[in-house]
Amino acid sequence: MSKKQGFMKALKCRECGTEYPLEATHVCEFDFGPLEVAYDYDTIKDSMTKEAIGSRPQNMWRYRELLPVAGEPTVGTKVGYTPLIKADRLAKRLGIRELYIKNDAVNYPTLSFKDRVVSVALSRSVELGFGVVACASTGNLANSVAANAASAGLKSYVLIPHDLEQGKVINSLVYKANVIGIKGHYDDVNKLCAEIAGKFGWAFVNVNMRPYYAEGSKSMGFEIAEQLGWKAPQHTVIPMASGSLLTKVHKSYQELAKIGLIDESEVHIHGAQATGCNPIAAAEKAGLDFFKPVKPNTIAKSLAIGTPADGFYALRVMKETGGHAEDVSDDEIREGIRLLAECEGIFAETAGGVTVGVAKKLIESGKIPADDSAVLCITGNGLKTIDAVDGHVGATREIKPSLREFEALLEAEKKVTA
Ligand SMILES: *Cc1c(COP(=O)(O)O)cnc(C)c1O
Repeated sequence: MSKKQGFMKALKCRECGTEYPLEATHVCEFDFGPLEVAYDYDTIKDSMTKEAIGSRPQNMWRYRELLPVAGEPTVGTKVGYTPLIKADRLAKRLGIRELYIKNDAVNYPTLSFKDRVVSVALSRSVELGFGVVACASTGNLANSVAANAASAGLKSYVLIPHDLEQGKVINSLVYKANVIGIKGHYDDVNKLCAEIAGKFGWAFVNVNMRPYYAEGSKSMGFEIAEQLGWKAPQHTVIPMASGSLLTKVHKSYQELAKIGLIDESEVHIHGAQATGCNPIAAAEKAGLDFFKPVKPNTIAKSLAIGTPADGFYALRVMKETGGHAEDVSDDEIREGIRLLAECEGIFAETAGGVTVGVAKKLIESGKIPADDSAVLCITGNGLKTIDAVDGHVGATREIKPSLREFEALLEAEKKVTA
């Protein structure tokens, strides 16, 4: 392991394979293909045994050889190793033999899967000498950049669509991040960030730092495989915004097989979107290799990317693994949130409702066979999107502080249910 680049070899164009130094850069000069981190798998194989991993602390950095930092991570060192729950009650409701929930709604510190990617991006930004970190965000990324930057003493700028949920806005402001609301959709925010990144020389976690950032998502897949007793699940259902998480969970299973930690097995990777922003799901259902950009209109704001950067690669992963995509309406998203809460006691944000709703459809249509086993990736916390379910989860019944009134209330209920 060299001191300067750890287990990484280079940045490499996904299209033509041209190699680049391990700097803050993300597109190939020749064909504009996205750059990806290449690793030295032979060295990793010797260092990353099950025993070694098992002896390390329970956070995402127990897989550090396959994460793109040169030295020890310095930001977000406690992120990850969230619970994998065997969800028997939800399995019954959805009609599948075996079901698990990977619960990143309780990820540390900002209650979404984004802490994984931010931990990597900020640790690498510090290694590369950046003092200012920034992002274009649909909400959760803003929260995570703001919080993790605060704890590392880094200055941060987070740019978000101006009409995000209040929970997500306040969750960024409280860390004293510079929060900029852009009057437009995420795709407008992202375009502006590309211009700013070029001009100001900041570390934009999902622009010039994207090759490192995106690799952080693999840790969700590494954990799933380890928590299943070192095997990849038959089916994984993953919510898609840019499509990056989906491609990286797939890559994580492939890498574990490559270094011999799991057996090669058939894994089906399925993608979930909201009908109000379904460019990738619509393309998959139509059998197309390319998506058509859309203007988002959905309560699942964390997934509202109309021009998904990794949409093409997500479509390819689904095709290659025999996976499928589906999308669900706002009402079905709320139903998904309620189902997960009622059956498993987990309150997910709208993206979680999308994942549960899509899993239900894929099981009903037989695309996920009822006799198989599936993992649903729950990526964010419901407390951040209460606006989306307010008025759809019943209401409290109010009484005076009197035993007589309480008994009357129970009597009245008995009559209704009788
Ligand atoms: C960002 C995000 C995703 C997926 O994002 P990708 O861009 O597809 O990697 C999923 N769920 C939530 C809650 C998110 O915030």
